[in-house]
Amino acid sequence: MSVTPATTFRLDNQFARQLSEMAIPWTGEAVSDPRVLVLNEALTAELALDPAWLRTSEGLNLLVGTNVPDGATPVAQAYSGHQFGGFSPRLGDGRALLLGELTDAGGATRDLHLKGSGRTPFARGGDGLAVIGPMLREYVVSQAMHALGVPTTRSLAVTATGRPVQRETVLPGAVLARVASSHLRVGSFQYAATTGDTELLRRLADHAISRHYPAATQAERQYLAFFEAVVTAQSALVAQWMLVGFVHGVMNTDNMTISGETIDYGPCAFLDVYDPATVYSSIDHGGRYAYGNQPAIAEWNLARLAETLLPLIDDDQDKAVELAVKALHGFAGQYENAWVSGMRAKLGLADGLDRAAIKELADDLLDLLQANRLDYTSFFRSLSGAARGDAEPTRRLFPDPTTADTWLARWTALEPQADLMDAINPVHIPRNHLVEEALAAATDGDLAPLERLLDAVTSPYEERPGLERYAVAAPPEFGAYQTFCGT
Ligand code: AMP
Ligand code: MG
Repeated sequence: MSVTPATTFRLDNQFARQLSEMAIPWTGEAVSDPRVLVLNEALTAELALDPAWLRTSEGLNLLVGTNVPDGATPVAQAYSGHQFGGFSPRLGDGRALLLGELTDAGGATRDLHLKGSGRTPFARGGDGLAVIGPMLREYVVSQAMHALGVPTTRSLAVTATGRPVQRETVLPGAVLARVASSHLRVGSFQYAATTGDTELLRRLADHAISRHYPAATQAERQYLAFFEAVVTAQSALVAQWMLVGFVHGVMNTDNMTISGETIDYGPCAFLDVYDPATVYSSIDHGGRYAYGNQPAIAEWNLARLAETLLPLIDDDQDKAVELAVKALHGFAGQYENAWVSGMRAKLGLADGLDRAAIKELADDLLDLLQANRLDYTSFFRSLSGAARGDAEPTRRLFPDPTTADTWLARWTALEPQADLMDAINPVHIPRNHLVEEALAAATDGDLAPLERLLDAVTSPYEERPGLERYAVAAPPEFGAYQTFCGT
């Protein structure tokens, strides 16, 4: 592994240069006493960054945005967004900065970005800050998602600032250093479209195509091909969320990437009991972003992206609409395809089986889980035992074990492969009660529960002695779980 020494560390400023209308040069607020709480050593290797250097005072100041290499242009990015359905033309990075782009060990361009680095011109009424708990939540959940094979932005480090931050109570401040294949969002396109400057919009689309979908330039209609590629990426992403039981919680258009990576872990959580109506976010009163609504919301957000791209798709607006609508209609089929393939694997079934039959089998199972209020993750893991011939532990999960028999017989007849299932149905997910426990302890200065949790969720498929409590649902005393946004 080659590691870039501090002196040769370079950050490019592609976005700042190519899209200056959407980038306000800015720097992080001074931090008197930065301390690394958690540093992602595996990710430093991917980025060819030296972890020892990141822990020096020069490195720490990079991680909070007060020291950037020569030639870098940190910026606050402008974007718009539909938040719970209502359009805000000017959101942007109110407490975040794009430090710049780096080239990773594999030659790919990755954004280095900070969250909680101080007020920017987009801060509106906000203080520009972040606190330890929510930044560590993003770190833990993004690590879990990556380990589960779900495309996601990555967390490089959470650095405590030593600064007290006023929330409901006074809490310790922190900055998250985030790495992403880009921070282009549906809301970025909405912002460019709102300016009415079609050339800016085209430059943004060209930038996105060159970073994420270069094959689109080969198409006869490259901006339509670009839109189709985003539809494909998002349909695959949301299918993966559904398969692992992930609830994003705040799928506003500013929180949906063009790359197809999960972004902005705010009020997110994993399902325990299987119920499509599950909502964890305290501000989602109407259940707009409930677990079961996520595919429909993704499609809704993609329709907003399509609207912005119409002037690039065809000069004739009617023709552009017709083409965009047709592409958008591809979402449902691609989503279902990805979901059925995922369920086939979770159920350990062979590739050649009839897809409609797999879908029916999976839907029937989910109905059973919902009716019997069973834990989604541990139920699927228990099925491996049933595939190996011992169905008793699975049956006993049901209040009346005989409820499961018809379904188990149908499934067993298809000869499920337990080894396939063990490689895809996790033992360890970031259980809500354990996340809360780890964040509360870290906020009080004890990082040990966080480290154990990270250890569990970064080896999701491996049952290990000592990690038993990471493999089971919350005890009933934990009660109904709520998460809080934007803190
Ligand atoms: P989020 O809910 O984190 O996706 O943020 C939505 C918008 O609110 C973005 O424009 C953020 O930059 C902004 N925002 C969230 N929290 C703060 C804060 N503490 N200070 C300034 N802006 C914020
Ligand atoms: Mg956001």
